[in-house]
Amino acid sequence: MGTRWGSHIGGNERFGEKHYTVTHKFTGEPLAEVAEASAELLGEAVKAAQAALSRPLSVHQRYQILERTAELLGEHSEDLALTMAREAGKPLKDARTEVARGQQTLRYSALAARTLHGEEIPVRGNPGSENRVALTFRKPYGVVLAITPFNFPLNLVLHKVGPAIAGGNAVVLKPAPATPLTALKLARIMADAGLPEGWLNVVTGASPEIGAQLVANPGVRLISFTGSAAVGDIIRKNAGLRPVLLELGNNSANIVHQDADLELAAKVLAQRAYGYAGQVCISVQRIYVDRAVYQPFREALTSAIGQLVVGNPEDPATDVGPMISEEAAIRAVSWTEDALGEGARAVVSGARQGSVVAPTLLESVAPSMRVMSEEVFAPLAGLVPYDHFSEAIDWANQSRYGLQAGVFTNRLDLAFKAAQELEVGGVIINDASSYRADNMPYGGVKDSGIGREGPEHAVLEMTYPTVMVVNLPG
Ligand code: NAD
Repeated sequence: MGTRWGSHIGGNERFGEKHYTVTHKFTGEPLAEVAEASAELLGEAVKAAQAALSRPLSVHQRYQILERTAELLGEHSEDLALTMAREAGKPLKDARTEVARGQQTLRYSALAARTLHGEEIPVRGNPGSENRVALTFRKPYGVVLAITPFNFPLNLVLHKVGPAIAGGNAVVLKPAPATPLTALKLARIMADAGLPEGWLNVVTGASPEIGAQLVANPGVRLISFTGSAAVGDIIRKNAGLRPVLLELGNNSANIVHQDADLELAAKVLAQRAYGYAGQVCISVQRIYVDRAVYQPFREALTSAIGQLVVGNPEDPATDVGPMISEEAAIRAVSWTEDALGEGARAVVSGARQGSVVAPTLLESVAPSMRVMSEEVFAPLAGLVPYDHFSEAIDWANQSRYGLQAGVFTNRLDLAFKAAQELEVGGVIINDASSYRADNMPYGGVKDSGIGREGPEHAVLEMTYPTVMVVNLPG
């Protein structure tokens, strides 16, 4: 891996006076020195995107570039997966899956470019409009600012870049400070795929000021943010009247009913609560279990957790790697200690080693404890017995968040009840809250955000309709 990386602006690599070090999240060794973009460079990035828009890409060009990027991702897959394993601490097997999913996201984006269309509006039914024809066209907003989190350095970036370009927008991307290398590599791959200069600009830096300064730039016409609710709130307040799409956090509830396949539920929930150290926005966090099967499920879950491999993310066998930083790991352990102090009991736990936190399962947890009420974003879950299915739904809904939920049951009536009553953007039956296919509408309610991703849906969010009304002669 090269040791120095600049921001990618207008097709050029740009270095400023300052830089910062990106580290391997398991070993701590330095991976690269990355440019800390100055205020001047940020302004140049927005100007480069504006300049690109003056040379629009045809729909067919957008389609071809996105398809070609998907192909090239395949050629670079192992390098991209290793980059993510190192800079994000993501277990290699998950990183490989992320590259394959990134290809899907690109292919759906290419399709969205080709199929995006307006419609005819039946205005002739209005008295006096007998001779009028109304059509809508979808137009790009212009410069899209994409701000992304550390945990999916490739696929969540593509969920913004793909639909933005499909709709004819140019992008300024600000990746998370911990994981800029994957995004910088993607920019080079997209240039090789034929994306002309200025259509994707990647600005790097460790300072939170960078995101704030970009949001403040009036040249940005739409902001698409994925990250924490706290930062999403700040961005929305600073965005003024411009559209803002927000994909934020969750403390995902998962319900296991007495009729469910308990072995399946235990295996899947263990993987999805602790895989990638729980650092997924839809990671399993609150597990509500029918009291009738609480003990056997608890045993099955404990045994499934015991089979998870904890350690170096570069080892293809690893399920649970490090957290993104030692501070994050210390914070997670302190939340567990607080819960234990407030009466919770540890079913499974272990010592922290640096940034690696051992999978932790708590019971006797109360809704008021932080491990239940907030987003833990760590390998930490709570187990709660319930007497009635409705009670589990009420508890699941007692959350400031509403992204996705999982329900294990084979009863059709309960599956539909859950889908109708859970206040979330997605209800997953017989799988965990963390299931996501890249073409489904994905997003939340409440503090989990505004808008939907999935290329076919995001391209609508990132374009606006203009209606044209023709008053036909005669
Ligand atoms: P974060 O909110 O700390 O940072 C996200 C991005 O915002 C980073 O690029 C960061 O540099 C930038 N940022 C920070 N302060 C800013 C400001 N004032 N103005 C503009 N930008 C600013 O999130 P994180 O720790 O990188 O990621 C974890 C969070 O992301 C979790 O809450 C997780 O649930 C959420 N997430 C949500 C989804 C989803 O699709 N809903 C997916 C992945 C992660």
